[in-house]
Amino acid sequence: RIVHVNGSFLPEESARLSIFDRGLLFADAVYEVTAVIDGGLVDFDAHQRRLRRSLGELGIAFDPDAWDLLGVHRELVQRNDLQEGLVYLQISRGAADRDFVQPTGAEPSVILFTQSLPLLDAPAAARGLRVITRPDLRWHRRDIKTTQLLYPSMMKSAAVEMGVDDVWMVENGDITEGSSSNAHIITVDGQLITRPLSHDILHGITRAAVLDYAAEAGIEVVERPFSVAEARSAREAFATSATAFVTPVVEIDGGPVGDGVPGPGTDRIRALYIERSRERLQF
Ligand code: PMP
Repeated sequence: RIVHVNGSFLPEESARLSIFDRGLLFADAVYEVTAVIDGGLVDFDAHQRRLRRSLGELGIAFDPDAWDLLGVHRELVQRNDLQEGLVYLQISRGAADRDFVQPTGAEPSVILFTQSLPLLDAPAAARGLRVITRPDLRWHRRDIKTTQLLYPSMMKSAAVEMGVDDVWMVENGDITEGSSSNAHIITVDGQLITRPLSHDILHGITRAAVLDYAAEAGIEVVERPFSVAEARSAREAFATSATAFVTPVVEIDGGPVGDGVPGPGTDRIRALYIERSRERLQF
């Protein structure tokens, strides 16, 4: 693979970053994952807006305007001949002698790489996900897309070890989100229910697009918290993320959601999302 480090494209074996990088030592870094389908980028601009917000919240002195990040994404897609998969972008505060006090003058580190993955015909979309619920023990600024991913990674690993697919995290009885996705349900009345934006969840780019497309298609969207019990008795449930798009959730804590198979509402929203995304790809 050809990767990108601090302005240079090079083979992954030649890529180097300081062992004092604060991304490595303190998870003092933010990231974005942009999906690629048909060789084009999905919702690139929205990911860049969120990146700016994350950088601003952490005061990382990286100026996206001084970079052609779209050009770097495009070149990586081309040089790796990527048709379907993702581009990962991470920006850390940079390297400095280890100290809890954040350095002021560090030069941010910028890395990008691609992964080739089947997204359109993902097996999980056809089969649906089985999830378990666990307490949400992450920090309280989940709206900032930092690389501090230890807890969700532990939870997802525990789920896979139990033979299921993922964890939906719970706080005060309500579902916050999945380990790396936003969580949604469709009620028996056909309403799409999703937790409102706050510091409690990542402001998913796919979530925002899905809510727009669903509303346009005449599906009633209600932004409010929902409980585990409500999710378990919903007609359908689904997760959204840049690379999973819209993926049905068919089981929660061992009990079926609806009929226990991917439902028509979720299938329709997934198809709508893919169709609209395809019309708006950036090459
Ligand atoms: N929540 C969390 C915790 C995530 O890690 C992700 C994906 N990185 C999402 C939601 C989905 O966000 P997006 O649709 O922007 O990929």
